[in-house]
Amino acid sequence: MIIILKPDADKSSTEYNDLQTYLDSLTDITVRMHEELGQQQRLTEFYLVGNTASLDINHINNFPVVERAVRVSREYKVLGRHSEDVRASYFDYNGVRFGQDEFHIFAGLCAVDTREHVEIMMRALNELGLNCTRMGAYKPRTNPYSFQGYGKKCLPYVFELAGKYDIKVIAMEITHDVQIEEIHNALEKAGNPTGVMLQIGTRNTQNFELLKTAGRQRQFPVLIKRGFGITLEESLNAAEYLASEGNHNVVFCLRGMKTNMGDPHRNLVDFAHVPVVKRFTHMPVCIDPSHSVGSREKGPDGILDVMHAAAQGVVAGANMVLADFHPDPLKALVDGPQALLMSELEWFVEDLQIARQSYLARKTLSEKQLS
Ligand code: PEP
Ligand code: MN
Repeated sequence: MIIILKPDADKSSTEYNDLQTYLDSLTDITVRMHEELGQQQRLTEFYLVGNTASLDINHINNFPVVERAVRVSREYKVLGRHSEDVRASYFDYNGVRFGQDEFHIFAGLCAVDTREHVEIMMRALNELGLNCTRMGAYKPRTNPYSFQGYGKKCLPYVFELAGKYDIKVIAMEITHDVQIEEIHNALEKAGNPTGVMLQIGTRNTQNFELLKTAGRQRQFPVLIKRGFGITLEESLNAAEYLASEGNHNVVFCLRGMKTNMGDPHRNLVDFAHVPVVKRFTHMPVCIDPSHSVGSREKGPDGILDVMHAAAQGVVAGANMVLADFHPDPLKALVDGPQALLMSELEWFVEDLQIARQSYLARKTLSEKQLS
């Protein structure tokens, strides 16, 4: 059960104290408090875990500080969508709003290689009015002899250049919990010129200790990729690990499933699950067409498969797109063959805007059916 308090509930009031006394009296139930400090108000929620079936919801709703108590119908207690749930389904980070009605493009380098390439990428984004990107510093590689990313060495110039080109959020994968502190320290040293969305890659979707650590910190939002060989339910439970530890600012990313049934694509594109994730949870849904398709092949219509796949996800309501670009793909140290060219960035962005407009028109059409 979730008990949502009225905004700005005063903790020193007798009304708050009455609720607290009631919660303290519950046996066999664990109570966890969660606070969200928004720009305008502070929201407090209590998560009750255990034998809550016997609790009288009307009694709880009658406490003056309570806005609403919600019985949790699915297993994703925090991230799930529950009936009569009045919690906000978006979050703001570094001036950017992420939610199920928003749309952001995160084009960037799969792996940071040189300062020059980072600068070319960020300048191009800035010229198109984009303020988010992806930049891999820590790379989980299949082969131990492959390039593993420049790690904390590259962070100072990545953050400095992000500030220079007004990039507000960088999606950056972490493979180990110490990297969260490295990112925090490098940002602070640079004067916090930008923000970072921590990325949990598909190889770490069920690295529960990493999830717990990323979930315990509240400084950075977290993007979690769907595990490439597990069910959607298992991946959504992995996302719930982050939230259950306290961090509710979570984005869920579809990136294709590992199976030869997807050949000749690198993975089987799974973007039909965009509306499913939105139906089950409050999370904004991201798609990664680059790692799904894995090549620069194009159809007879001249449109790249990566763009077709991206459009499919966006037409279905995706809220974020991660895409690999590179100024010189032949020299890219990771995933060059799937990177789009800088000369294709404007085309890509315009193509996605068409898909987004199409989604919005489809949504309006569906709303008309209901009225
Ligand atoms: C990536 O986004 O760079 C990446 C490694 O993706 P995935 O975890 O989906 O393979
Ligand atoms: Mn990659």
